[in-house]
Amino acid sequence: VSKAARGFAKTGGDIKQAAVLGAGIMGGGIAYQSAYKGTPILMKDIADAGLALGMKEAGKLLAKRVSRGRMTADKMAAVLGSIRPSLNYDGFDKADVIVEAVVENAKVKQAVLSETEKHISTDAVLASNTSTISITHLAEALERPENFCGMHFFNPVHAMPLVEVIRGEKTSDLTIAKVVKYALQMGKTPIVVNDCPGFYVNRVLFPYFAGFDMLIRDGGDFRKIDKVMEGFGMPMGPAYLMDVVGIDTGYHAAEVMAAGFPDRMRHEFTGISQLMFEAKRYGQKNGIGFYRYE
Ligand code: NAD
Repeated sequence: VSKAARGFAKTGGDIKQAAVLGAGIMGGGIAYQSAYKGTPILMKDIADAGLALGMKEAGKLLAKRVSRGRMTADKMAAVLGSIRPSLNYDGFDKADVIVEAVVENAKVKQAVLSETEKHISTDAVLASNTSTISITHLAEALERPENFCGMHFFNPVHAMPLVEVIRGEKTSDLTIAKVVKYALQMGKTPIVVNDCPGFYVNRVLFPYFAGFDMLIRDGGDFRKIDKVMEGFGMPMGPAYLMDVVGIDTGYHAAEVMAAGFPDRMRHEFTGISQLMFEAKRYGQKNGIGFYRYE
């Protein structure tokens, strides 16, 4: 561990201001969790509609706490007030950690990360919430790859304890220390993992999705598969889980996994998600996936 990282840990090195790029399922969840646990956060998206959705989700989660008597209305207003939605980079120069949570596409992410780097302090840490894309590859677009790593949350962010902190080839110890600290501030359980497509959790999860896909091809009924896997003890079956994740996000991630492990992950396993993706059945986010949502 480098001297700088040890120094940071010794000072208790708080993350005082955070920022998130993308106000979707994950960006909205990250903003909520950060604010709720006391770290103010800026939330940037490219569309007003996205920002409104992110704020609405955070508001719903907080209102639930108030209605259960676990939070006062004043505290709710204060937490909501510490999330600042924005369509530009105002205030990003004051952020200690910036988490990127835009679409799962390496080119888009590299463009967003490279642009963001121009608006932040040279000490700030940039982290990607990518599910599968290599951190070393994303870092190729950056001037300061040592200040970059993965910070992979799970969905729904407020409920899932684990965060994978991914070390790219050039990531410094100080960067890892800061992101671990931020994860702890958010009440999460960080694990530091090496860089590869899918990191740790998704190397287990995507073969499971692939098994589901093959069963569908063999004539399986997704509703029955879900029931069977719930009976086995999973909190939800694979079809419902895909709807929660977002079929579009899952499809892009499956492509990265197939390209990363061509000998192990059969490319055809993108079959069912490809059909759903082409039919624009993205899951809960747009009201229709395997199931229909109000
Ligand atoms: P989403 O589709 O719900 O949200 C993506 C958001 O990014 C949208 O609001 C979009 O407007 C915004 N966006 C696009 N380009 C942008 C830009 N240039 N600047 C700012 N915002 C931009 O997607 P999501 O499910 O939140 O996934 C985001 C990332 O998190 C992906 O990399 C995904 O792989 C990862 N992830 C997703 C899950 C999951 O279960 N959904 C879990 C872990 C990680």
